[in-house]
Amino acid sequence: MAQQLSLFPDGLTRRRALPVIGEQKDIRYHATRAREILNGPGTTGLDGFWSINPYVGCAFGCAYCYARYAHRYALERALAADPGDEALHETARTLPPWLAFERAILVKRNAADVLQRTLWYGADRYRDLARGHRIVIGTATDPYQPAERRFRITRGLLEVLAHHADLHVVIITKSPLVTRDTDLLARLARRSSVEVHVSLITVDRELARRIEPRAPTPEARLRAVARLHAAGVRVRVNAMPVLPGITDDPAQLEALVARVAAAGADAMVVGSLSLHATARQRYLPFIAREFPALAARYRATFARGHAMGPRYRRGLAACARELCARYGLTFGNDETAEAADQTPSRAARRSQYPASEISTSSARPSAPCSDA
Ligand code: SF4
Repeated sequence: MAQQLSLFPDGLTRRRALPVIGEQKDIRYHATRAREILNGPGTTGLDGFWSINPYVGCAFGCAYCYARYAHRYALERALAADPGDEALHETARTLPPWLAFERAILVKRNAADVLQRTLWYGADRYRDLARGHRIVIGTATDPYQPAERRFRITRGLLEVLAHHADLHVVIITKSPLVTRDTDLLARLARRSSVEVHVSLITVDRELARRIEPRAPTPEARLRAVARLHAAGVRVRVNAMPVLPGITDDPAQLEALVARVAAAGADAMVVGSLSLHATARQRYLPFIAREFPALAARYRATFARGHAMGPRYRRGLAACARELCARYGLTFGNDETAEAADQTPSRAARRSQYPASEISTSSARPSAPCSDA
């Protein structure tokens, strides 16, 4: 029997303490109650763009993830709401924020109820959403991370959405667990549009293990793409962020595009790396440790700003466009990636998670293919 590490506060859940999920024995899950679940354009910074994140924190622990910083604010809010929660205090005391992000996951257990209340027919928000606004699930943390297998918060949200019509729903994930909900996605697609974006930056399994240590393997993600495609769900692959000097070699990119096309994806989007201050604190030491030959170039590149230069980005986009055309994939242009690439204000950081999965556009210090 796995050792039990984490409890939901009895007053909230009246459940017995939770067992460890899978092999991830070092993760604690904390119940939290969301006041709002649908973040509107005011917080996402994009017209017509609404986000939902069922979990705060993400067990996949990608080295480049910059959603880490917002975890601290969420933890502070949870502690303010429940100052007597000893488990939360211990987390805040013992884990640095970047690590708490992947080891202390807040579970929005009332998410489906809050969404249902928010979307009652005739409500202003529902009218906006039915007019073509998009709901994106998983802009900051993965909605199908291991916690979802047990808590089913994302599934509960989809069940609510399936009761409405004329919505435009996008789900962003690295996990094949999304295929568990294929039935629900098909039901949702009868009255609304739905698209799954699977994030995948390399098909090199060993490389992926170094960069995204707890995320599903590339093969598992490609199998998920194939299953979704077979079920008639529209699926796009997000190759974001392309890591300079690590995953941006043209041969690597071609291998990725070829496998994505073979799996049946409808489209692909490629974005370069952005490193805001907190992500830099985590990612640059990771580069120094794992890819020491690149450390000096990374430091120099990101000393000047958080994003790769326009020449690099144009080169990367041109390369990806050419490869997608060669393999019959639609090359996507994602305006949400650009918007999320902006440094959020302090107030915005406190009020929402950043759009990590869709925002990390990024960086090899030279253009990956022929420079545009
Ligand atoms: S990049 Fe996405 S999957 Fe990886 S840790 Fe961040 S939120 Fe999770």
